[in-house]
Amino acid sequence: MEYPTLITIGSDWPAPAARLSPERVTIHEFGHQYWYGLVASNEFEEAWLDEGINTYTTGRVLDREYGQRSRGTTLAGVPLRGYPLLKLPSPPEPEPTGIRPTPLGLHLPPSPWPADLEELKPAEWLLLYRLGLPTNSLLGGFRDVPFLTYLPDLPTGAVDGYRASYLAGPRKDMVQRLAWDYLDRASYGLNSYDRPALVLATLERLLGDETMTRALRTYQHRYRYDHPTGRDFEQTVSQVAGRDLGWLLGPLLRGNEVLDYAVTSVKVRELPAAAGVFGQGDERRLRGPGDSRPGQPPKAPAEDASEDQEATRFRNEIVVRRLGAVAVPVAVEIEFEDGTVIQENWDGIYSWTRFVYEDSRRVRRATVDPQRLYAIDLNWSNNTRMARLSRRPVARWSLRLLLWMQNVLTFYSGMA
Ligand SMILES: [Zn+2]
Repeated sequence: MEYPTLITIGSDWPAPAARLSPERVTIHEFGHQYWYGLVASNEFEEAWLDEGINTYTTGRVLDREYGQRSRGTTLAGVPLRGYPLLKLPSPPEPEPTGIRPTPLGLHLPPSPWPADLEELKPAEWLLLYRLGLPTNSLLGGFRDVPFLTYLPDLPTGAVDGYRASYLAGPRKDMVQRLAWDYLDRASYGLNSYDRPALVLATLERLLGDETMTRALRTYQHRYRYDHPTGRDFEQTVSQVAGRDLGWLLGPLLRGNEVLDYAVTSVKVRELPAAAGVFGQGDERRLRGPGDSRPGQPPKAPAEDASEDQEATRFRNEIVVRRLGAVAVPVAVEIEFEDGTVIQENWDGIYSWTRFVYEDSRRVRRATVDPQRLYAIDLNWSNNTRMARLSRRPVARWSLRLLLWMQNVLTFYSGMA
């Protein structure tokens, strides 16, 4: 908790070191000495100005100091590493049904497994079972057994964390809103902490680290011992960036619409060879579907090799769509099967655009926003599309799923 010149922190016990349990909150509360301690924005009327900016700067410090780290979870009150990807249903404690947001935007059914078992100390194991079994019903206790439902390690950075929170309710409210006027407590948290942090992370990716840092420093210096508003922040950032950023910050801070771009189709079709009359004078040739015509002598192959043995040509067609109401300019990267990559730019305003290449090469895949500049894009899993199905990931994931199912069945047959 933060107070001017005084902070208090707490930690979970026995938290694995990777959870950064006291570190995160220490950095966060210290950050408040700046974001509303020195720069005294109104934490009731514009909560995002202190909690949002502070969540963003906390994330930057954590990323720089600790790099990619494991997402944590709690199992029967015990903090663990790991991510509950396949949590089984728990009858005694009904869980919110529906979808679970993940950093990628994939929506998986709610579920629990993977602590980093290697790192778990015996005392932690003991606690895990002692605390886990009596507090839940039999099924409720066993559903959280780490082998069964946890992904052991899911390394993530700050942006993945903001995304996982944001995706839980992206359309409930807008960021710029009185703290007591949000739909519910969860929406207050999402719109004051993680969503504004995600907006700022998007801004950082667009402006670059150096400009973003300079903008924050300028805001801090300019409004130290003062009471700035969200507009002051936006104006400062635009001024430092040297361009008006209202086109982006307006819809992201004062609207509840989402940003989502997707490659919705990549089609490759072989073009029929061109037919007709080619060349001039003596070189005149009639070329039809059969390459020659009755009454005309067949061409000598060697002579016309360069002209007639043209490589097969393909029509490559890529459709990119804007699925959200927020419209921004985006880059589209197209990779051909020979490895060449070209980049196109789209203003992103109309609801879709199409790129067509008639070429001797086939397109392998297309990606919209390949650098993932728009950290706030609702669904990253639809940003890339392949022209042909790649079977390798399908086989890999099917094997993993089979292994998981075997584990689950072995476990429950052992219990019976
Ligand atoms: Zn805070």
